[in-house]
Amino acid sequence: MTRKFNFSAGPAMLPTAVIERAQAEMLDWNGSGMSTMEMSHRGKEYMSIAAKAESDLREVMGIPDNYKVLFLQGGASSQFAMIPLNLMGDKASADYINTGMWSKKAISEAKRYTTVNIAADTSEGGFTAVPTQAELKLDPNAAYVHYTPNETIGGVEFDYIPETGDVPLIADMSSTILSRPLDVSKFGMIYAGAQKNIGPAGLTIVIIRDDLLGKASSNCPTMFNYSVHAENDSMYNTPSTYSWYMAGLVFEWLKEQGGLEGMAEVNKRKAEKLYAAIDATDFYGSPVAINARSWMNVPFTLADAELDAAFLKGASERGLVTLKGHRSVGGMRASIYNAMPEAGVDALVAFMQEFEAANA
Ligand SMILES: *Cc1c(COP(=O)(O)O)cnc(C)c1O
Repeated sequence: MTRKFNFSAGPAMLPTAVIERAQAEMLDWNGSGMSTMEMSHRGKEYMSIAAKAESDLREVMGIPDNYKVLFLQGGASSQFAMIPLNLMGDKASADYINTGMWSKKAISEAKRYTTVNIAADTSEGGFTAVPTQAELKLDPNAAYVHYTPNETIGGVEFDYIPETGDVPLIADMSSTILSRPLDVSKFGMIYAGAQKNIGPAGLTIVIIRDDLLGKASSNCPTMFNYSVHAENDSMYNTPSTYSWYMAGLVFEWLKEQGGLEGMAEVNKRKAEKLYAAIDATDFYGSPVAINARSWMNVPFTLADAELDAAFLKGASERGLVTLKGHRSVGGMRASIYNAMPEAGVDALVAFMQEFEAANA
């Protein structure tokens, strides 16, 4: 068996140790005589798995007690509608920062339910930078401020947390959650689809401050209401049980890696190695402003795009796969989430140097 270094943006690699543990527990979880995907979500065994996953996530992220953690379905994309449906209260508008493809999707969905004020927009520069705090045109009467700390497609990441005063800050952390320590108390709500840095697809995590619950609009569907999920410990209906279990294994693995401090150290080193290789030569290039370069998603181009196909083919022959850039950006994109071993980045850098030597 050979595991490839899979640079996919999502679904993405999972730690091999986690998959091996799931494999070992597959047929008989802890003497129960069944796999976790065959268990009643209301049974004692599954409830213990679910509770352990939540308490490990709380521990790993340092989530304060006045926040609820919800294990939902529908992807980060459902949150684009759930946020305005739940959080507008009696406010008339919400602020959105537009830094790329995922912000744009959140904005167009929110416009179906409320008035959107664009607090900043980096589309003119082709979504290659982040606005500074001084550039944000924030409305003190907004219901909330929404932003995307890490734009997965553009590889653009905020190097600061926006200061929004008393207005709750909402973050789509799908591609950066768990990559480094985070002060959760600075946020009203954090959400993330699981398939990048948490676990398998099918699970969406929402971390929401208590005081933001109970304000859903009267036409909000029951399944879209955060309060309903909070009151039912995310078991109002059948949750995505296997993905929740797998996420729990990832949280345990994170603790073994030294938590988010440990992850941050490795992630920083991985990103620095890759950007250094890109910057070392004119053969490769990065369109992203230096201060906004993502640790998790690294788009890069070859000066001669005619060589793209040969690059991808050569990489694939060396077990380095899913490096093709998003269709809207072109070039290459290496997603190097927590589960991408440093050896994968080393192998990519070695191949980049070898390919340049052969083709420059
Ligand atoms: C992948 C991604 C999404 C979409 O997630 P789904 O779970 O597929 O709905 C939204 N926002 C960001 C930042 C993403 O990376």
